[in-house]
Amino acid sequence: MKKLSVIIPCYNEAEGRIPEVAYNRLLKVMKSMENYEYEFIFVNDGSKDDTLLILKELAEKDQNVKVLSFSRNFGHQCAVTAGLKKVTGNACIIIDADMQDPPELIPEMVKLWEEGNDVVYGKRRSRDGESAFKLLTANAFYSFLNYMSDVDIPQNTGDFRLVDRKVVDKMNSLPEHSKFLRGLWAWLGYKQKELEYDRAERFAGTTHYPLKKMLKLASDGIYSFSSKPVKAIGLVGVIFLIFAFVSFCGTIISVIVGGPTFNWFIVSALCFIGGINMFALYLLGNYIIRIYDEAKGRPQFVVDEEIN
Ligand code: UDP
Ligand code: MG
Repeated sequence: MKKLSVIIPCYNEAEGRIPEVAYNRLLKVMKSMENYEYEFIFVNDGSKDDTLLILKELAEKDQNVKVLSFSRNFGHQCAVTAGLKKVTGNACIIIDADMQDPPELIPEMVKLWEEGNDVVYGKRRSRDGESAFKLLTANAFYSFLNYMSDVDIPQNTGDFRLVDRKVVDKMNSLPEHSKFLRGLWAWLGYKQKELEYDRAERFAGTTHYPLKKMLKLASDGIYSFSSKPVKAIGLVGVIFLIFAFVSFCGTIISVIVGGPTFNWFIVSALCFIGGINMFALYLLGNYIIRIYDEAKGRPQFVVDEEIN
């Protein structure tokens, strides 16, 4: 019998006994799929409230509930990364505890997985009950990330997805420490399929992704998937050097026609120094990018199958 592992990160979710409600809803879905075993991997990301207590109660009641508890808050991406290492099923599903992503979609995901897709990711068609500010920043974030990033990260997708075990194993084998999962799933490749859904409102509690954490996530995404900022520095350097050249020509012409030369020369010198500086930073940046790429230790390629 195939087994499905569900990873549920939880941080300060005791209000409204969120993990228990999530457990009941997930259990109902799992029971509706008769041909599969299941395990729930709850990751307590250093909650300061009674979340861990609730999780312990669940684990006592149900042997299929596994709990991993952090010593302090390490962040959602770390919680999911830790959960991925515990997966024993043939596929895993990553879902938030607040049930904003409907678990009732899991059977559909499993069906698409059984049809041969390795990753089935949820794509938000709409988002209920999120502030205009969150919607605006989220939209800006996804567009900006997509523009900046060197791999194609699908828009309006979060971490809600089903992933085949072989892809989970590849993800676990990546040595980089601060993993921006959404980007890495895209980077890993494999047969990916999107599934559109409407994102619900939180049924209790409040978001743990304030602006500060969102900015951190955004910068992780950009730093680990983009070399565009360095290219931008190079471009500015070149523009300065062009200005320097034009003003230098102005100086020469002024000398020939006997006009004022001082201003032309000053502008030319300043642009030249600025331009050279920027260009030097660009060169250094390129070395740093290469060092960073090596340090991330991502393999050069990912093999899916080998025949004969
Ligand atoms: N979460 C976590 N660690 C954190 C912040 C959030 O494990 O530092 C969990 C949280 O319990 C929830 C999921 O990650 O299950 C998504 O968080 P949240 O609902 O607050 O984010 P939003 O849906 O508002 O983006
Ligand atoms: Mg949420």
